[in-house]
Amino acid sequence: MNRWQREINLLLALLVPALLMGYFTEHLSLILLAITTTLLLIQTLHIDRLEKWLSRGAFGDKREHKGIWGDIYHHIWKIRKIDKKRKKKLSRMIDRFRTSTDALPDAAVVLGSYAEIEWTNTAARELLGLKKTDKGQRIPNLVRAPLFIQYLKSNNYQQKISIPSPVNENIILQISIVPYGAGLRLLLAQDITHLKKIERMRTDFVTNVSHELRTPLTVVKGYLETLQEMDDIPEVYFKTFQKMSTQTERMQLLIDDLLLLARLETKAKKADCVRVPDLLKQICRESDLLEKDERRIELVIGSDSCLQGDEEELRSAFTNLVVNALKYSPTDKPVKVGWFKSEDNGVYFEVQDFGEGISSAEIPRVTERFYRVEVKRNHKINGTGLGLAIVKHVLVRHDAKLDIESQLGKGSRFRCMFPAKRIC
Ligand code: ADP
Repeated sequence: MNRWQREINLLLALLVPALLMGYFTEHLSLILLAITTTLLLIQTLHIDRLEKWLSRGAFGDKREHKGIWGDIYHHIWKIRKIDKKRKKKLSRMIDRFRTSTDALPDAAVVLGSYAEIEWTNTAARELLGLKKTDKGQRIPNLVRAPLFIQYLKSNNYQQKISIPSPVNENIILQISIVPYGAGLRLLLAQDITHLKKIERMRTDFVTNVSHELRTPLTVVKGYLETLQEMDDIPEVYFKTFQKMSTQTERMQLLIDDLLLLARLETKAKKADCVRVPDLLKQICRESDLLEKDERRIELVIGSDSCLQGDEEELRSAFTNLVVNALKYSPTDKPVKVGWFKSEDNGVYFEVQDFGEGISSAEIPRVTERFYRVEVKRNHKINGTGLGLAIVKHVLVRHDAKLDIESQLGKGSRFRCMFPAKRIC
């Protein structure tokens, strides 16, 4: 039967006799009032039953109710059933997610918009010392390393940071934050103690070997100089000694660069206020003096900003770039050096040459250690392949970026971009 049919039948069953009775007794309005009241009472009864059924949890399909009310019961029961199924599925998924995240060796913490803890996995409790009861607490109140708090506040999570674990300071954690959703952040912490140890061993090894090589090399160099100064030395030996001298010098440069790199990896950062304009004038004067004939450095100081950092490190980075520009461009072409304000209120150091340039494929590789571009030159250019690696390290220590633009045969432009917070 049509779901409305029963209701209409009921209405007709009441209305028709009522109309007839009303017609014959002349009390039509009274009879209609009585019928409307009866209908209202019936509906109120249904609503009351429905409310009771809902308050008991809407269990069981109430198909025994006929007509539209039966349908209403049935639909509510069906929606509840689907909802129950969905909830079961979701809870199974959450259980699976919990089991897998708990098996993760890395700590994971979901942070709300006020950096309050919303969820943690088991590793977060072990590595960061967070407890289940810490839910709702702000994480900076629990993980108090200043670098971490600064990182959290910065809202710039492109780089990762390393901090000692709040549970055991011998454990080094690498922290990264991934923002997602509306103001939510996922904090990941990885135990990198072992990696740090290997890195330290590598640096120590390079430093020790370099130190050990320094002394014998100085002795060899000394003897070679003495031998070259002797008067009665045959021409053939003289040339050999000269070649040996060049190679020992190259080795000495290599050792110096390796030691400098090792120092950059381990030394504590300095934060002096470096007068970059003066430093650049000095570097350019000294580098220009290395040129045989014409002076070719054109220095433009477009900003009088000073920089917070380590003067010796900056000197080394800037000198490397200026010397490279001189080395890799013809002697009749100028080398432009500049110090300017950047659009984002920071400052930048720029060196531009009009030399051989670097192909776009090699640009990402030139800052790798010992990487030297293979170019057919009519003369050999000396170098260790460590200069740009040193530049990159120094810049990282100064929160700066190296930007390289170059075109083969046209020249190169190296820019060291310092952020505004470094200006002093
Ligand atoms: P190197 O001691 O060989 O100069 P660097 O690390 O300073 O080592 O540079 C790496 C390589 O990058 C160089 O060997 C050179 O091929 C290339 N390079 C660096 N600067 C320039 C430049 N201004 N013009 C062209 N090539 C350059």
